[in-house]
Amino acid sequence: MLLLPEAAPLAALLLVVLLMLTLRLRSCSLKAAPITGTTLGSIALVFYVRNMQRDGINDKATFYTDTMSSSHLRGRRSIVPCANILGGGSSINFQMYTRASASDWDDFKSEGWAANDLLPLMKRLENYQKPVNNDTHGYDGPIAISNGGQITPVAQDFLRASHAIGIPYSDDIQDLQTSHGAEIWAKYINRHTGRRSDAATAYVHSVMDTQDNLYLRCNARVSRVIFDGNNKAVGVAYVPSRNPGRPELWNSRHSPDSRALRRCNAEMLRGLDIKVVSDLPGVGEEYQDHYTTLSVFRVSNETVTTDDFLRGVKEVQQEIFQEWETSPEKARLSSNSIDAGFKIRPTEAELKEMGPEFNELWNRYFKDKPDKPVIFGSIVAGAYADHTLLPPGKYITMFQYLEYPASRGKIHIKSQNPMSSPSLTVAS
Ligand SMILES: Cc1cc2nc3c(=O)[nH]c(=O)nc-3n(C[C@H](O)[C@H](O)[C@H](O)COP(=O)(O)OP(=O)(O)OC[C@H]3O[C@@H](n4cnc5c(N)ncnc54)[C@H](O)[C@@H]3O)c2cc1C
Repeated sequence: MLLLPEAAPLAALLLVVLLMLTLRLRSCSLKAAPITGTTLGSIALVFYVRNMQRDGINDKATFYTDTMSSSHLRGRRSIVPCANILGGGSSINFQMYTRASASDWDDFKSEGWAANDLLPLMKRLENYQKPVNNDTHGYDGPIAISNGGQITPVAQDFLRASHAIGIPYSDDIQDLQTSHGAEIWAKYINRHTGRRSDAATAYVHSVMDTQDNLYLRCNARVSRVIFDGNNKAVGVAYVPSRNPGRPELWNSRHSPDSRALRRCNAEMLRGLDIKVVSDLPGVGEEYQDHYTTLSVFRVSNETVTTDDFLRGVKEVQQEIFQEWETSPEKARLSSNSIDAGFKIRPTEAELKEMGPEFNELWNRYFKDKPDKPVIFGSIVAGAYADHTLLPPGKYITMFQYLEYPASRGKIHIKSQNPMSSPSLTVAS
């Protein structure tokens, strides 16, 4: 979830910068191909900001808006961006390689889902391309993880500054255990190709030619799940997402109970005249998401950042595109420019300053789980903002992520119409 400083102006601002990027990119040789998930944003990695373009112009993401405004946000409403593309979030996200803490999995208290049960699967998906001193990573999987093409000097400054305030350097804060340390933050980027490493490329495109039971339907929205007489899901029905008025298509063998619909909270479904297959009252309740706030800072003109590139300085763009075309493995463009970050827990002295409300949460949730950080932070070498509204110059952006908010919300469908947005409340 993104908490944007001033949601509407920033949305407009992003829209403008993203439109500018779109216009500039028409001249480049890379082609957008949404059906495959291989968009320009997913190749030229620094363009991931484009994926946050709103107001119907960007169709790679859907933006859910909280139905309630919050007094804690000066009356504004939170925005939750979600993927709307093959490969899901992995095709449009910020590419920051991030793993949960071991205790997060263990907290499920569900047989087979503890961290130790899942570690072999976590390793199996990885093609980990960084040097490492622990045994939690895999090397033969389809998802590449690396530091990308280049590490910007501000990342090294960030690590030194972190060390100076008591956040030690670590070669891996994604080892499921480290909760207080700073690192060169790894990326879902293949260091050999300089490209985004996404689920569509890894698991769909790679088997399309050989797996004859895999059918790919893009630009289709699932309208319901089809169950057989034993309540086993056997298929889905879907409508074209660009022209939903057309008749439904069916994508399953004929089932004896093809009118049976979704699994969800029974009362709510009956209220919407949807047949209940299985009553699972917890579905859509206890919604929890991480909050992100962005702060932009001006830095000295000598600082290496993405600003001139994103601002559209022609010579800089030409140089950087050229670099990417000749040596993607070490190109600046083969990066998200989010090169360093930390996970932190408060010190004893900080806890004393933080007041009873936080301390109650700390004692209840964090104290006995030493692998849980309270906050992540990362540095972006450049302004994550609309450069047309910024004075010329260089910037950095700090991303702050509150990983375990105490608030809980709800998300529920409002109608049978698969095209209508759900009702969302992010905090209770
Ligand atoms: C802007 C953004 C930045 C992020 N940055 C990072 C990051 O840097 N690092 C990180 O680790 N995580 C990041 N995340 C989160 C991460 O991408 C998600 O947690 C992850 O992708 C979730 O995977 P998923 O498979 O559960 O769901 P998703 O990736 O959301 O996949 C769900 C898929 O289902 C499709 N879908 C939904 N409803 C229907 C329907 N009715 N019919 C047909 N298809 C449907 C969607 O289009 C989507 O393709 C980010 C997310 C966003 C949105």
